[in-house]
Amino acid sequence: AKADGRGTYRFFETGMDARAQARRLLEMDLRAALQRNEFQPYYQPIREVASDRVVAFEALMRWNHPQRGLISPINFIPLSEETGLIIQLGELMLRGACADAATWPDNIGVAVNLSPVQFKNPNLIASVTEALEKSGLAARRLELEITESVLLQNSEATLTTLHELRAMGVRISLDDFGTGYSSLSYLRSFPFDKIKIDRSFVSELATRDDSVAIIRAVTGLGRSLGIVTTAEGVETDAQLELLRREGCTQAQGYLFSQPRPACDVAMMLDRPRLR
Ligand code: C2E
Ligand code: CA
Ligand code: CA
Ligand code: CA
Repeated sequence: AKADGRGTYRFFETGMDARAQARRLLEMDLRAALQRNEFQPYYQPIREVASDRVVAFEALMRWNHPQRGLISPINFIPLSEETGLIIQLGELMLRGACADAATWPDNIGVAVNLSPVQFKNPNLIASVTEALEKSGLAARRLELEITESVLLQNSEATLTTLHELRAMGVRISLDDFGTGYSSLSYLRSFPFDKIKIDRSFVSELATRDDSVAIIRAVTGLGRSLGIVTTAEGVETDAQLELLRREGCTQAQGYLFSQPRPACDVAMMLDRPRLR
């Protein structure tokens, strides 16, 4: 590979197909971006439906690329997971989010997404501990969001890790609930504090009666199990009203605010809606 002088790369290897080349390019770019510190957390408020108050922010990774601008994680997380770069990226997010949250009011939490690859890493507990100690953030203010795919892995080890995290005081959320191979038995076997109802169910609320039924079932389940329910992707007042009626605990979405950089957190706390 040769740099062409404008920060992009050209490949001259023969026999490498276009997709493989694109992946190698992206991987090189990701490594360079880590060196150059181009990743930063954006924050989206999570509101308590009953009180209409912000209770936490979810940290969402952004790549601030010098040429391509802001890049969404869906474009680089899969490759970061395959290459193992997600470990470094994930630690960066964890440290950054804890450091930011330590400057917020005491009652405001921060939610950080964990990749299944990070979850399998034996260093996870140590890096969470370090992020909390370095920032001085109380463990109860940190939520870790995991997806169902984590639960499909070695369940003994998973269970041990989840229990260790909870013993530290960290809270655990089950992200994208309803999209994977959700099994109700997960909710009994694993110690979750929160279920995040996937955006797809919320966005179809106006058009599909069965989405209402699903929201009703999940919020009911949460209530009976003592688990907080959060609806993601709330974009309209009608969706919010329905969630309120069904007793969903928390809501998050563009109706309130898009994810924004840390410098906008005070503004997001002040203003209920910001679009
Ligand atoms: P997610 O954890 O399910 O995050 C919610 C996604 O929905 C975010 O996309 C957010 O910007 C978007 N969103 C929020 N409200 C609305 C809404 O009202 N309407 C619509 N259409 N979208 C909304 P984003 O930031 O592009 O992140 C995509 C995914 O990338 C996340 O999905 C998560 O799985 C992953 N991700 C983001 N940050 C990290 C991270 O630090 N580590 C890991 N491992 N994964 C991350
Ligand atoms: Ca999430
Ligand atoms: Ca989600
Ligand atoms: Ca999602």
